[in-house]
Amino acid sequence: MAAPPSTPSDSRNLIEELVRFDTVSRNSNLALIEFVGNYLSGYGIRSELIKDETGTKADLTATIGPSDIGGLLLAGHTDVVPVDDQDWSTDPFKISEQHGRLYGRGTCDMKGFIAVVLALIPEIDPSRIKRPIHLGFTYDEETGCFGGQALARHLKSWDVRPRWCVVGEPTSMAVVNGHKGKLSVDCHVHGAEGHSAYIDKGVNAVEIGAEIVSRLRAMQKRLMAEESGNDLFDPPYTTIHTGQMRGGIARNIIPRDCLFEFEIRNLPDQGTGALLDEIRIYIADTLLPEMQAVDPNCGIDIQIQSDIPALAPEDGDQLLTLALQLTGANTAQCISFATEAGLYQGIGIPTIVCGPGSIAQAHRPDEFLALEQISRCETFLRDIIAAQDQ
Ligand SMILES: [Zn+2]
Repeated sequence: MAAPPSTPSDSRNLIEELVRFDTVSRNSNLALIEFVGNYLSGYGIRSELIKDETGTKADLTATIGPSDIGGLLLAGHTDVVPVDDQDWSTDPFKISEQHGRLYGRGTCDMKGFIAVVLALIPEIDPSRIKRPIHLGFTYDEETGCFGGQALARHLKSWDVRPRWCVVGEPTSMAVVNGHKGKLSVDCHVHGAEGHSAYIDKGVNAVEIGAEIVSRLRAMQKRLMAEESGNDLFDPPYTTIHTGQMRGGIARNIIPRDCLFEFEIRNLPDQGTGALLDEIRIYIADTLLPEMQAVDPNCGIDIQIQSDIPALAPEDGDQLLTLALQLTGANTAQCISFATEAGLYQGIGIPTIVCGPGSIAQAHRPDEFLALEQISRCETFLRDIIAAQDQ
């Protein structure tokens, strides 16, 4: 016999449990994953872990119901962003409820969604549903979607893949069917040190770095001016941004090293490859000859830190139509932040993003999730689970 239906308090209690695990991306998420695994096994559901190469982090997958037919994948990440140097009014790893809101790190991004999914498990009778519900909970989304990539590789090997996927990132329960991609790049300029009175004898890594950053900025201005006409996105063009830069040790020393990080957030119909090639060609044709004429050991390393694909809007998709109908929305939205959704779309699973809480609260001190969002998410998931069997 199926357990009695869950109540909102089940979701609330589960959020409380999940937030208590300090799963900031630099930490292991295994304690949380074990908690979820034990919770599922309490309902007779077997889960599988996909560990990373260090063995300290894992994705969790589980299938509830039949395995010979594709079902609905409910996906989300278990890691959270750090709280260091943020001015929190309450303990970020302990839920505090005030004015209909739950405060705590990860409440909206995105343990709230995972808790709601888990709270619905007792309502589901695996022997009675025609299509399965798949769970996919990942690690290291915030640092580059590494767990999502591992999960996508894993799902690709399944004989029968999920036919739909909902990623529960905070969209205030709006249905999102498109987002930009994000390519994160590290650049290290190796110059040649020397006395600053003799600049002709050295290669100034900071100045070379600045030239590359200026080039990136010029590319950004061009992208802005080209006007893609894609007004689904805000801003409506691919963006390039340098986020951190350091180099040099003293005013009177020619800097040997300069390191900086930049990112390209691309529209779904604009790949990042050509933009990165443009930078590589500029470096190879213009900067390196000049640097190596002074010192052949000089060089510039470009390293891709992570590459998160965009989610391309697909019109007329069955999942999208259903989700719009269930949420009462007229149209789907596009967002500018990247999620794991593009990874699952990339292996052929129609995917939308729809989850409780607002992105405006994510990554901030006093992150919160409104209780009203929890009940909207419960209703949506109950309805979509029922609808996939129709
Ligand atoms: Zn997130």
